[in-house]
Amino acid sequence: MTVIQETVFETLESNVRGYCRSWPTVFDIARGCWLRDEQGREYLDFFAGAGSLNYGHNNPVLKRALLDYITGDGITHALDMSTVAKRDLLETLRDTVFEPRGLDYKVQFPGPTGANAVEAALKLARKVTGRQAILNFTNAFHGMSLGALSVTGNAAKRAGAGVPLVHVAPMPYDGYLGGDDELRWMRRALDDSSSGLDKPAAVIVETVQGEGGVNVARAAWLRQLAELCAARGILLIVDDIQMGCGRTGGFFSFEFAGITPDIVTLSKSIGGYGLPMALVLFRPELDQWTPGEHNGTFRGNNAAFVTARVALRHYWSDPALEASTLAKGARVRAALLELAAQHPGLSVRGRGLVQGLVFEDASPAAKACRLAFERGLLVETSGSEDEVIKLMPPLIVAEDELEHGLEVLSGAVSEICGG
Ligand code: PLP
Repeated sequence: MTVIQETVFETLESNVRGYCRSWPTVFDIARGCWLRDEQGREYLDFFAGAGSLNYGHNNPVLKRALLDYITGDGITHALDMSTVAKRDLLETLRDTVFEPRGLDYKVQFPGPTGANAVEAALKLARKVTGRQAILNFTNAFHGMSLGALSVTGNAAKRAGAGVPLVHVAPMPYDGYLGGDDELRWMRRALDDSSSGLDKPAAVIVETVQGEGGVNVARAAWLRQLAELCAARGILLIVDDIQMGCGRTGGFFSFEFAGITPDIVTLSKSIGGYGLPMALVLFRPELDQWTPGEHNGTFRGNNAAFVTARVALRHYWSDPALEASTLAKGARVRAALLELAAQHPGLSVRGRGLVQGLVFEDASPAAKACRLAFERGLLVETSGSEDEVIKLMPPLIVAEDELEHGLEVLSGAVSEICGG
């Protein structure tokens, strides 16, 4: 009789755990685009910490700076006290991100998660406008705390709230209705005093919905949305937590559309090294917070400030990373289009180095990801039915690594789909 021994993950860790079920092994070491498990098996990472590892695992440039900082007894924890690490980061943000793009933003350090940045953005929008309603979009994902969940689409995740999620009205995202004017309803409802829609404080949008199935908003749609908001005094919040920090090419995912949001949320890769950190950026006039009005113990993760600063200096002082991201994204897209051409019911969507392989029938997507895992590739599904394989390698992925991952994926998909 075989005795299956339960591990401490099964006996002690909560049922809420998720990714370990998709990738049932125990990871130990990681470098660049590769993870190794405790058996010594190597896995190529096309998941990148859900967008937190744009510069790869244990990036040597960032690691050196972090080790030097720790060895020199640099401040690790500082709430929102002023520190050298924070000053250096703010100056670098100004010099490498804001000034080259002509952006005039104030910087808020919320708690270090994406959800906390979203909470802060929603609170600020409500405070500044004195209005309660927020408009969000179908298939949106903004995090798991109550405010962030209220603007998230997924029914199962919303149900976890256990209380009504209120003061929100979902609008159709670009392409949701299959047409090319999904803003028509929003425009009409906002302008008709009998539509039943309360005038909102803000609209919150992702330019590409990562968790929602790699749904891509067109530049023209984003511009119309920005114009619609500006004309009616509604604040535009772009949640760039997953798609910012170069994932779609430019540092911000909205740059390509030529829009300037009133408020931007950043997290995930802003810390550079995978260390927790988040930012809320907003127009100076919106800075109506009173001291401590949105606080939190871990707003001053100074180790992350160091790696964030070095990442900005190293990767964003010239256009090389943006160009290579776009080139790699085009290569991934071409490979996926080739795969889609071989198998009925598959299609491709994405922007920059986030590309989705969309399955008309959802179930093969998860099976293909599982097979890819068995063959040493980490890639996850997204979308309301998990019908999309989302490819999101670190931006620093080498060409041969990219080709290898695409080959593994293509083999897995072909085996599952037949052919
Ligand atoms: N917003 C977006 C667009 C996200 O993709 C995520 C996480 O995936 C969040 C917010 C929430 O971030 P966190 O999980 O750090 O709270």
